[in-house]
Amino acid sequence: MPIATVNPATGETLKTYEAMGEEEIERRLQLAEATFRTYRTTSFEERSALLRRAADLLDEDNESVARVMTTEMGKPLKQARAEAAKCAKAMRWYADRAASLLADEEPDAADVRDSGASRVVVRYRPLGPVLAVMPWNFPLWQVVRFAAPALMAGNVGLLKHASNVPETALYLEDLFHRAGFTEGCFQTLLIGSGAVDEILRDDRVKAATLTGSEPAGRAVASTAGEMIKKTVLELGGSDPYVVMPSADLDRAVRVAVTARVQNNGQSCIAAKRFIVHTDVYDAFAERFTEGMKALRVGDPMEEETDVGPLATEQGRSDLEELVDDAVRAGAEVLCGGERPEGPGWYYPPTVLSGIDREMRIHREEAFGPVATLYRAADLAEAVLIANDTPFGLSSNVWTRDEAEAEEFARDLEAGGVFINGMTASHPALPFGGVKRSGYGRELSGHGIREFCNITTVWQV
Ligand code: NDP
Repeated sequence: MPIATVNPATGETLKTYEAMGEEEIERRLQLAEATFRTYRTTSFEERSALLRRAADLLDEDNESVARVMTTEMGKPLKQARAEAAKCAKAMRWYADRAASLLADEEPDAADVRDSGASRVVVRYRPLGPVLAVMPWNFPLWQVVRFAAPALMAGNVGLLKHASNVPETALYLEDLFHRAGFTEGCFQTLLIGSGAVDEILRDDRVKAATLTGSEPAGRAVASTAGEMIKKTVLELGGSDPYVVMPSADLDRAVRVAVTARVQNNGQSCIAAKRFIVHTDVYDAFAERFTEGMKALRVGDPMEEETDVGPLATEQGRSDLEELVDDAVRAGAEVLCGGERPEGPGWYYPPTVLSGIDREMRIHREEAFGPVATLYRAADLAEAVLIANDTPFGLSSNVWTRDEAEAEEFARDLEAGGVFINGMTASHPALPFGGVKRSGYGRELSGHGIREFCNITTVWQV
């Protein structure tokens, strides 16, 4: 893919960028390594002041950076503004909390005596330059949720952003520099995915984090495995959204629509498979379909727009193929399902029922505003369908029965179980998945410790 800003609402190429050559990459790797040597010794107070400054600048830039995001990947402008605000909040959260999240730990006194030491301290030290391979769907948030904890821990970041969001990638580098971080603390590498392998093999790069598709995750994780480097992977999801008879159906329907189409349906934690108890299935299906039909699809810069275009032409074709495959195999289209005429990579909110296990859409991630409906006879069948996927990112359950909620929380194979609400990320809550959704956690104390050298300091 060329490195370029292409407006998905029109298909027009606005700007293309030359990929960085070997010399420039080498200069940046050297700078990252040299910067780390001194940055690692800075105090939490110093780092925190810099990150707070970055948060303030980001708030000042909210409107302009939101417009850049919408132009590059097509999310509705109001959602882009909210994303930028959320990033500033996460920066402040880590600026405030990192010192306590990474405070030295002392084991139990009896255990220390038993180890033969007079004192033991467990210390969280930074690893060094960390490579972040990031996707376009939340072009600021995906990066900030890596960068804020990494910088607070004393690591330095090298960003390889998706090739279709170069302006957002360069904005981020500029933001951290304006905030006062020295140049090597956070650098954007304008490179294609083909250049990642060699950089990851470089001794100066100590670890990697990737958010994106399974093939990209597999490529990065296997090279990192060969080089014995730590990775965190946040890959796709096909989250179940289970509705039981005791649910508040009005809210369950309303939230279902938002949970499916947020970010034009291109979110790893979007609810994608709607598994509804047979007692409320017909009512849910009818009202959910009405809700999806009522959405306003159009120019993402317009305030009234609910759903903009898909980010790439390829993304739309991939989604279309999934829908067509299901329809050929007998799925029923309750709404949508036909790409509109005209410019831009639009795809309508679509609801499919009559899904069976052989359809690709049952096993693969539908990265766009397409929902699949399943009927379940009881809780056990709902769990069975929910877990019948290669993914395990998050899950949603609607029930007012506490015992039922507990059973779902025990049995759903996912990194999150959200009860009577849609999955969302928050700086204080661990975020990540199981199965082919990846491993490791982002955000919270778990996230900041992923890229730390947990050092045992043992003293006689
Ligand atoms: P990719 O996984 O291809 O892209 C994500 C990032 O990985 C980009 O920076 C990309 O670079 C890079 N990348 C891709 N292949 C490799 C590789 N072999 N080695 C190193 N880096 C690589 O996502 P797509 O944009 O192609 O989307 C495809 C599908 O991925 C979606 O339909 C969706 O199912 C899933 N996805 C999931 C996301 C999530 O949030 N979990 C986010 C985005 C996509 P470049 O852009 O230069 O190719």
